[in-house]
Amino acid sequence: TKKVAVLTSGGDAPGMNACIRAIVLACERADYSVLGYMHGFNGLLHQEYRLLDGRSVHNLIQQGGTMLRSARCKEFEGREEAKRAADNLRQLEVDTLIIIGGDGSFRGAVHLSQFWEGQLLGLPGTIDNDIQGTDVTIGYHTAIETAVTSIDKVRDTADSFERIFLVEVMGRRAGFLGLNAALASAADYVILPELFESEEQTLEAIMQQLTKRRRERGDVSYIIVLAENLWPKGVNDLAEQLTKLTESEVKPVILGHVQRGGSPVSQDRLLATRLGAYAVSLVGSDISGIMIGECHGKPVKVPLPSTWQKRKPLDEFTVSTMESLMNNRYA
Ligand code: ATP
Repeated sequence: TKKVAVLTSGGDAPGMNACIRAIVLACERADYSVLGYMHGFNGLLHQEYRLLDGRSVHNLIQQGGTMLRSARCKEFEGREEAKRAADNLRQLEVDTLIIIGGDGSFRGAVHLSQFWEGQLLGLPGTIDNDIQGTDVTIGYHTAIETAVTSIDKVRDTADSFERIFLVEVMGRRAGFLGLNAALASAADYVILPELFESEEQTLEAIMQQLTKRRRERGDVSYIIVLAENLWPKGVNDLAEQLTKLTESEVKPVILGHVQRGGSPVSQDRLLATRLGAYAVSLVGSDISGIMIGECHGKPVKVPLPSTWQKRKPLDEFTVSTMESLMNNRYA
């Protein structure tokens, strides 16, 4: 029989629990034993783990966060630390380690593979969706939903007072969340890392569009979605600059960590369940050092370095749709 270990690492994402559940239940059916390392790679370094069975994952699929906790672990980048982790895995006789996380976590997996001969599998779990080789990641759809629900609420108050709001969403290196949240909430303007040219150009484009809107529609309720850490001096600076330029008070709203939380939407639960079950179906095979993702609804195996070596592009048609709506009179 086989021994499988699982851990969640990096930014937490809704659906990680659903994935852990799927792994544990699939292992139980196959008669494999399962343990969960706590706090990402920290658990691996410090031999902090718990044994998991069907009872441990009861009532879990709908819960946000991760029961195994997640963490960043700078220490793990060292060679000695990775060697120690490998020794710990050997000591517990782990055959397969499944890592649920983002690209940083996959770099950690590759680092570990220099010292550990066991089977390593990665599953994409991040709200950013910035992982090459899979159409979507676990947590992404829930984060869009959370952002859209919040922007809808901002829109209500923006409309009532005919105000301009600047909403900051997560996604400092990738605009997937910002683009799709902006499109689904009918935001008037979106500022994303992939499309950002300069501060001057952005301010000019916003002012042009806003002036046109005010002239054509009369009302002045206006929502701008901005990806975090993109505006050089921060969201408050942009709000201040726009307040001066528009001569009306521009309110900044930072959505922040609410976007990481909440019960996963069914798309995330289903993706997490499929990927978890698929990973367990590979246990014992000679396939290792890969991420399992999904493309066009089918599972795919992607060598771990390919998940971060090239930047995953935004969908061009979605971008052009957003752009044409931004320029539409009645959007
Ligand atoms: P998200 O993008 O959602 O925040 P992530 O998995 O990319 O998730 P990171 O903080 O980048 O999150 O990485 C998680 C952990 O992976 C790090 O804290 C560290 O323990 C490990 N890690 C990252 N890069 C490396 C590396 N080059 N070598 C070894 N370990 C690494």
